[in-house]
Amino acid sequence: MSITPLMPVYPRCGVRPVEGDHCHLIDEDGTRYLDFASGIAVNLLGHSHEGLIGAIQRQAAKLMHVSNLYGSPQGEELAQRLVDKTFADTVFFTNSGAEAVECAIKTVRAYHQHVGNDDKYEIITFKNAFHGRTMATISASNQEKMHKGFYPMLAGFKYVDFDDLEGAKAAMGPNTAGFLVEPVQGEGGIRPASQEFMQGLRDLCDEHDLLLALDEVQCGVARTGTFYAYEQYGIVPDVVATAKGIGGGFPLGACLATEKAARGMVIGTHGSTYGGNPLAMAAGMAVMDAVANDEFLAEVRAKGERLRTRLEQFIGNYPELFEGVRGMGLMLGIKMKAEPRPFMVHLRDNHQLLTVAAGDQTLRVLPPLVIDDAEMDEFFEKLSAGAASYTPEDAS
Ligand SMILES: *Cc1c(COP(=O)(O)O)cnc(C)c1O
Repeated sequence: MSITPLMPVYPRCGVRPVEGDHCHLIDEDGTRYLDFASGIAVNLLGHSHEGLIGAIQRQAAKLMHVSNLYGSPQGEELAQRLVDKTFADTVFFTNSGAEAVECAIKTVRAYHQHVGNDDKYEIITFKNAFHGRTMATISASNQEKMHKGFYPMLAGFKYVDFDDLEGAKAAMGPNTAGFLVEPVQGEGGIRPASQEFMQGLRDLCDEHDLLLALDEVQCGVARTGTFYAYEQYGIVPDVVATAKGIGGGFPLGACLATEKAARGMVIGTHGSTYGGNPLAMAAGMAVMDAVANDEFLAEVRAKGERLRTRLEQFIGNYPELFEGVRGMGLMLGIKMKAEPRPFMVHLRDNHQLLTVAAGDQTLRVLPPLVIDDAEMDEFFEKLSAGAASYTPEDAS
């Protein structure tokens, strides 16, 4: 037998973390890495946050899981807090981002089909989007590399260029149910949508009774400097899928919706065994305690501006490697002149700095939101040393 016990779907690297310490990860052999990947925008509070650890420990000792057949004081509390902080009137809890998007897709379809508009099932999505790895969420993306080997795709999605409002308008038809879009594309390369695009989608939805569903799985939960990224566009969505940061490392996601948008999500239409269990709710509440306040969000914005300014200065020294910096808050990307993966590997293996490669030749810079000045300085030391010692030919 040659298959590994872990199904070999990931190109796993030699870094094998066994411990975390604020914004650092410590490997099996004791090597310390500066973590500017954050488990891909998950570990908002770093790796050893006492509030989050304590909340999980206390809840684990009290009650970990009960069925959603019973009343949930823990779920009611976190849902109420999310409702108070956002556009939403109601919340469905999941265990992952893909499930949150899946619930968003079902909510959009059910909105129309609940009142007998059975032909309004088509959701317009955007090229190079990433919405997860379930059948529905890979079908919602145009990316062939995720489809290959898994045909047939789920019907009912139409793909349009990202940030192309005219394209979105032209794709609309009698079957259109709504739009699903990342306000800032993450895997696609840290590409923020324009103000006109987001407002234009909102207007189209209002004019044609469609739903605007946002995938904020990566950009949500304080990452961009507001609790959700949509706030910075001054628009109100109908549905938002959230996950990654919301559990701070505990598997948790949610689908947020207005009362109107959720009209089809009635008793018996959807469910999840684990979704919203007391342990997950304790983690979610500890994260909200830490991040869902003006002081913390203002700090994320200030740190994001400092990081961005310093990055822009830095890349000016290496015009042959880097093209520009983009993103919002602490969700930043360095657009490179070539594929970012070899440079990411070089930073990781030779300078103990963890970043994430993304699409559109972009290197993702996603520090924990609690990053301090010393860690920011360490980042620039490692990045500078990494760029100075980098020759694209010998890294692969
Ligand atoms: C990561 C991600 C998902 C999928 O989340 P999982 O927890 O891996 O299922 C969906 N949408 C976006 C934008 C993401 O970044």
